[in-house]
Amino acid sequence: TALQPFTYHSLPMRVVFGPGVVASLPQEIERLGYRRALVLCGPQQQATGGMVADALGSRAAGVLAEARMHVPLEVADLARQRARELGADCCVAVGGGSAVGLGKAVALEHGLPVLAVPTTYAGSEMTPVWGLTENGRKRTGRDPRVLPVSVFYDPELTLTLPVGLSVTSAVNAAAHAVEALYAPDANPVISLMAEEGVRALVDALPAVVRDPGDLEARGQAQYGAWLSGACLGATTMSLHHKLCHSLGGTLDLPHAPTHTVVLPHALAYNQRGAPQAVAALSRALGGAADPARRFFDLAGELGAPRSLRELGMAETAIARIVDEVLANPYANPVEVTAEGLTALLHAAWAGEPPQ
Ligand code: NAD
Repeated sequence: TALQPFTYHSLPMRVVFGPGVVASLPQEIERLGYRRALVLCGPQQQATGGMVADALGSRAAGVLAEARMHVPLEVADLARQRARELGADCCVAVGGGSAVGLGKAVALEHGLPVLAVPTTYAGSEMTPVWGLTENGRKRTGRDPRVLPVSVFYDPELTLTLPVGLSVTSAVNAAAHAVEALYAPDANPVISLMAEEGVRALVDALPAVVRDPGDLEARGQAQYGAWLSGACLGATTMSLHHKLCHSLGGTLDLPHAPTHTVVLPHALAYNQRGAPQAVAALSRALGGAADPARRFFDLAGELGAPRSLRELGMAETAIARIVDEVLANPYANPVEVTAEGLTALLHAAWAGEPPQ
């Protein structure tokens, strides 16, 4: 097929990948000319945050282990205040999307650069997108200042990620790549990364489930997460992400499991309007003719949730989500209708195969 016109905007950042690379963070901070790093992590990852602070030695200003899902404004304010009190000149965010999101919140207000050490596959570290939650409402925006300046992908730090979260987080990553393939601003470079990202993630998962300590498989998964995160940072997401955003924001459903349940259904909905994406995904998924069905089967094989019901959603909430998703139009390869969305959500709620 003929090449369509496109714009490719590369994001300025440095990625360091490999087992043990976290040990070279002090040199990175020195190279960048910073002196006082505030280490941010979640309460359950205090040990990892402390380990990073120890490695930084005199360049660590302190550790704040308060990162929480969706970056509540109170937590953001606390981190901003701590950064000011400690005279921090950069933040090192260690953890998943919540820790990276906290670093971004500080960057947004104080302009402090963020270095990210991701320990899930969510991909926030590759995007200039920030989010803040106030009174139960999440605001998001794009700002180049929140894009991390350096990202250290060290698969050793992912060995402790529980199997269940490893699977759902990896599918969360794959969803970024999937939607990049049919994005309104898709381009051939990002499409290459998307296809390779899905391939790496899906190839790695069975081995990760068999042995969460398999460093090689963990590396593959994290490589896939990097590529998929880059897809998220470079393109505009469609139906799948809007649906998950609404389900998470309105009903407080868990982020990665929600992505895992919804992806087969959103993809099935969009496949008929996105033949090139289907072709790329089919190659990435070992020749599967119906990528949406393959994602659904894979979730079953890997023991991941397949219904919104099991995530705690009430069936009666479907209408609310439909209204909300329809209220904010966005680009999508297939027209989004109330009937189509309702059928999609019913199938996803009940855990039926995608239509
Ligand atoms: P998370 O950061 O909340 O992590 C989930 C859980 O896993 C936490 O309890 C954490 O302590 C634990 N955990 C993380 N790494 C671990 C490890 N290596 N070992 C053991 N436990 C570990 O969740 P997430 O799924 O990484 O990120 C989701 C959040 O990120 C959401 O708020 C989402 O909106 C946001 N996000 C933002 C962007 C963006 O571009 N702005 C992109 C993706 C996700």
